[in-house]
Amino acid sequence: MSEVVMKVDPARAKALVSQLKSVKERIAAVANGRPVRLVAVSKLKPANDILALHQSEEAHTHFGENYAQELAQKAELLPRSIQWHFIGGLQSGHCKSLAKVPNLWCVSSIDSLKKAQLLNKHRGEFLASTSGPAAPGSPDSNTGSQNAAKLNVHVQVNTSGEESKSGCSPGADTVALCRAIETECPNLHLLGLMTIGAIARSVATREGAENEDFALLRQQRDLVMRELGIDRELELSMGMSGDFEGAVAMGSSEVRVGSTIFGQRPAKADAKLTV
Ligand SMILES: *Cc1c(COP(=O)(O)O)cnc(C)c1O
Repeated sequence: MSEVVMKVDPARAKALVSQLKSVKERIAAVANGRPVRLVAVSKLKPANDILALHQSEEAHTHFGENYAQELAQKAELLPRSIQWHFIGGLQSGHCKSLAKVPNLWCVSSIDSLKKAQLLNKHRGEFLASTSGPAAPGSPDSNTGSQNAAKLNVHVQVNTSGEESKSGCSPGADTVALCRAIETECPNLHLLGLMTIGAIARSVATREGAENEDFALLRQQRDLVMRELGIDRELELSMGMSGDFEGAVAMGSSEVRVGSTIFGQRPAKADAKLTV
């Protein structure tokens, strides 16, 4: 890892910690004691912000990124104790570089067998080139540290059917992809399903309506468990800044919250790796 001296501005750190705590409290208020993983989505935000939350008394470890190169660069700069999530649109060409990030904890956007096979192959090569588990000493507080060497994955489901959203179609495609990961990808661990969902439904969720995307993802999860005869509980990764409380109320296991913690994001061209 490169030795980079990174400054953490105390006022910025204080604001970030307070926003993180407030999101955690809002989750706890609807979770009924159920554990819900909070992925702090740090895309386009400087590594200093991530370090501030990781080094704080909250010692936050789960951070999510959308761009493969940005994730790899931040992972180089920041402590190994961070557990990285890739949540952005996955391209085949990114599978190799992602699989080599030692503390990549989860890829949440698998939507084709080809990409699952590429991640499986490259993770296998990476594991063979290192000895021992990929992320030693980083047990996860929510799920335990089972499969530490395997790469956790979520299958992304296009629950809203929008052209603009990636993801597997609900039904047979989703079941088939989950089955292939279970049976043909020994270096991957199927954690569950992920959706983004339609903006309009997200807005409706805020107004108290049951979100159809979340209901469909839950139904798909039950279908996959039944069809594959899986007896561990598969996760639901659903809920973002605008709708995470509604998602948790509907059984979400993981919410991905960015702007409510870090504030508005800069344009991609203006984003800085460090400040
Ligand atoms: C950016 C992003 C988020 C976080 O969005 P916010 O609205 O800022 O909380 C969550 N999930 C995915 C897949 C994203 O791309």
